[in-house]
Formats: sequence, structure tokens, C-alpha cells
Amino acid sequence: MSWEQNVRRVVPYVAGEQPNKPGMIKLNTNECPYPPAPGVERLLKRMDYGALRLYPDPDTGVLVDALAEYYHVSSGQVFVGVGSDDVISMAFMTFFNGRRPILFPDVTYSFYDVWAKLHGIPYRTCPLDEDWHICPEDYRQPNGGIIFPNPNAPTGLFESLETVERIVRANRDVVVMVDEAYVDFGGRSALPLVEKYDNLLVVQTFSKSRSMAGLRIGFCIGSEKLIGYLNDVKFSFNSYTMNLPSQLLGAEAVRDDVYFKAITARIVATRERVKRELRTLGFTFPDSKANFIFASHETIPAQQIFQALREADIYVRYWNKPRISDSLRITIGTEEEMDTLLAFLKDYVSKRRF
Ligand code: PMP
Repeated sequence: MSWEQNVRRVVPYVAGEQPNKPGMIKLNTNECPYPPAPGVERLLKRMDYGALRLYPDPDTGVLVDALAEYYHVSSGQVFVGVGSDDVISMAFMTFFNGRRPILFPDVTYSFYDVWAKLHGIPYRTCPLDEDWHICPEDYRQPNGGIIFPNPNAPTGLFESLETVERIVRANRDVVVMVDEAYVDFGGRSALPLVEKYDNLLVVQTFSKSRSMAGLRIGFCIGSEKLIGYLNDVKFSFNSYTMNLPSQLLGAEAVRDDVYFKAITARIVATRERVKRELRTLGFTFPDSKANFIFASHETIPAQQIFQALREADIYVRYWNKPRISDSLRITIGTEEEMDTLLAFLKDYVSKRRF
């Protein structure tokens, strides 16, 4: 008998690499290339570091209230966590306790199956159609809960709110989570549906559109009943999940809507330009509404392009997995970063043609 018999063994999620080389172009983990809102910098500079002596507010009141005001919901409808990863993991623990499998797409955020296994939740994947869309009929089978991102990752495809509502309406006896990590780049949030469906949980993050991946802030909005259950589990797990600077700086970011709209619009404009240019180089991709493009080339295998880019210190994401091994996920960076990427690809593709 060894102690190892009592170990919970898991195969962990593998996050995109976080290289830190001078001059590199990092387009592999969907961060925002622009800094956080200017008010965040100002607040950071005058922050009272003596306050770090104390535990932070376990209810994360300032941030919850700022989000409630911004999204026109009550504070009792908002839950915050250490990145949306923390929120979703906590929600899996809270809401997915049935014996039936939970459902999510076969091509999606690859953390879902890891959490399901970690929390001992049975799951079944529903294949996306040939055009990478979710088939709402697949979510009519008996299940213990549902989660999908909208826009989906890594495809970037957005499903209409009608599709989302069809899925929620057909599943009133389980919790349906819509992971809206990328919704601010041209999608439409399911938040208005929260008033209508008490089983709908909408999850968002500050890591992409609010440019604060380093602070680890995520949140979800749902009925007060859902949020109450989530808080019960959170307070049974760790009272002080979110540190003080994240609470204060996160609230500050929410207050600057003008900056938020400006940087998301800029990323959308860059994305649309990059789409046009990638097409001329022989790439195809689903019509992304996220801050990345999931592109494959008509003749050159994605893995080879990935390697070549990497050698040039341009990092994109590649998965050697069924259905997606032909594609690269390219985050939208600044105009200049994308120019460098496109210039490299133009040269690379032309050399491979002859
Ligand atoms: N959901 C999706 C679909 C994502 O791509 C990511 C980013 N990896 C997350 C959630 C988690 O983001 P974060 O924990 O930084 O909020």
C-alpha cells in the first residue's frame, strides 16, 4: 500500500505558452495588445499599499457593485472569481451534480473536459457541424447541464441569441452556462435572457476585452438564486479568492466605458483587415467575431506554418488534435504586429509556392 493509491490523478489543462523574449510577437493566448484603461494606471500608482496588510473584502463588493451598475442587474446577480476559469470551475462544482452527462461542443475550450474530470462529472461532447456551428438539436437529449462559449473558441464563430435561447428554453431543468469570454468583439451577450431564464448563467472575463489578464478577474451574471448557490460553494472553498488590487482596479476599469469601446472597436477593425489579407494569401477561416482568427491554409499544413512562425519569434496557437490540426489560432494584436505577421506569411507562402 502506497500513499500514491490515494492520489487524485488528473491530466491537467495545458495553457498556451508564455514566452517572454524581447521583440517577440505574442499572438497565442488571446490577450489584448493595448494597455488597460488609463484610470487603472492612475489608481495603481496611488494605491495604499498599507491596505495590503488586511484581508480583502470576501464579497468583492466594489467590483460586484460596479459590474451590477454597468450591466443593469442587482448586485445579488453578480459573482466574481479569479479569472473566468475560476468562475467556471466553481460553477461546475456547484451546478453539475446530476448523474446525467453534461454537454458541450466537441471543438471548444479545452478546459471543460478537464474540469469535468477533476470534479467527477460525466460529460458528452456534441459535434459542431461542418461549418463549425453548434447544432441546437444536439442539446435536446437528456443531460445534467450545458456549457458552450459564444463566440466559440477556437473557431471564433458566434451563435445568434435565438440559438442560445432555443438551447436554454429546451433545458429549463438544468443550468446552462454561456461562456462569453470573447463576446465584446462583435457578438451579442445573452445577458438580457437572464431576466427570463433563472437557469442561465452568463460568464465573462476581464482578460481579453478589458486587457487585464494579469489581474485574473472573471465574473458571471445570473438569477439571484444561482448566484446564491455559487457563493455558498465559494465560501466553503476559500473566502478570499480575489485580492484587493484586482477588486479595486477591476472596478476602475468597468467605469471607463469610452476606453473599453475604443479598444474593442480597434481590435475588430484590425481583425477585419487581417481577414481580408489572409484570404489573399490562401487562408480560409470561419468568420470570427472574437479577437482571434482560426485559419487554415489551402496547401501548407498548419503545423509547418506554426513552426516557421515560432522560429521567427511570432507565437500563435496550434493543437495537434482531431478536427483542428489543420488550423492555427491567431490572436489579433496591434496593427504593427499584424503587419509583421502578414509580411512574414506573404514571404513564407510565396517561397512555398515555387
Ligand atoms: N473561456 C474561454 C472560452 C477562454 O478561451 C478562456 C481563456 N483561456 C477562458 C474562458 C478563461 O479566461 P480567464 O480565466 O483568463 O478569464
